[in-house]
Amino acid sequence: MPDVLVLVDHDGEHVHKSTHELLAAARRLGAPAAVVVGTPGTAARLKETLARHGAACVYAAESTEANEFLATPAVDALELAVREAAPAAVLVSATADGKEVAGRLAARLDAGLLIDAVDLDSSGVATQIVFGGSYTVRSQVTHGIPVIAVRPGSFEPEEHPEEAGEQELVPLPIDPAASARITARRAALTGDRPELTEATVVVSGGRGVGGVDGFRVVEELADALGGAVGASRAAVDAGYYPHQYQVGQTGKSVSPQLYVALGISGAIQHLAGMQTSKTIVAVNKDPEAPILELADYAVEGDLFAVAPQLTQEVAAR
Ligand code: FAD
Repeated sequence: MPDVLVLVDHDGEHVHKSTHELLAAARRLGAPAAVVVGTPGTAARLKETLARHGAACVYAAESTEANEFLATPAVDALELAVREAAPAAVLVSATADGKEVAGRLAARLDAGLLIDAVDLDSSGVATQIVFGGSYTVRSQVTHGIPVIAVRPGSFEPEEHPEEAGEQELVPLPIDPAASARITARRAALTGDRPELTEATVVVSGGRGVGGVDGFRVVEELADALGGAVGASRAAVDAGYYPHQYQVGQTGKSVSPQLYVALGISGAIQHLAGMQTSKTIVAVNKDPEAPILELADYAVEGDLFAVAPQLTQEVAAR
């Protein structure tokens, strides 16, 4: 069975859920092999959980400087692993960083690239969301080793404890110093809340929230549900909430178990980032708002009346 390479998203100590989903997706095409890029010792720490989720082999691309660079160490590592393993495909998470890695890797390998895949079959045909969510298409790479960016939330993680023996750890010699150094560091922005693209619950606010103070109602419901906070572009552009929380075509794509939209009309560009959510709840005072048509549970009403009641009900459980 050919290998299928999976780029591991992690924080140095824990593997992100999106990687467990990728490992499940990879099994449809072959034997999953994980590629860990991090500081020395990272792959050894993550090996067990990767093995339990189906990684037959773990490649370790480690350097003391690995975290000081954005995409290039991951692209270098994947390129080396591709040369070593001749895999059937390379899978990465379709996050902003993952898409950059996927694009650069496909260019280096002169290979076909599929972005925003939400399903994969055993012959390598992917179901993709394209044109800002207007179409769902089935596509297959016809040139080179397919590089596929899979939307977080599209696959269920699988555990295979019976296969978690002594996994091979294969070192990959990366040289981050050959890349441009990044001196600015990203601040931790999520606080105690889960990362937006990883969260199983997302509560988003739109222009209807009315301002920075109004977003407290959104945050309180998100916290009661143990979820992440998102925002529409109109809310972001108006300065109600920071840009890194924007959901949609020009923001982040999310696919949680539960998406709650408060004061969001449901423009196509917003739907592009959340319409694959498993259950959608929308609160809007306009009965004609398009989001109410898409929603599994549509509440016509004032979000400032409905959301606090929801928060109270959830907190009481
Ligand atoms: P509005 O459309 O103004 O809707 C506000 C809603 O709140 C209304 O439906 C109103 O009835 C409701 N409301 C008001 N008060 C209350 C209340 N008290 N209680 C309940 N409901 C209330 N948008 C994105 O979100 N993400 C993107 O990534 C994105 N990318 C874009 C890219 C391009 C190229 C373009 C052209 C646009 C993009 N947009 C994006 C913008 C998009 O077209 C919409 O303008 C935007 O999504 C609207 O945001 P909204 O629903 O919060 O605001």
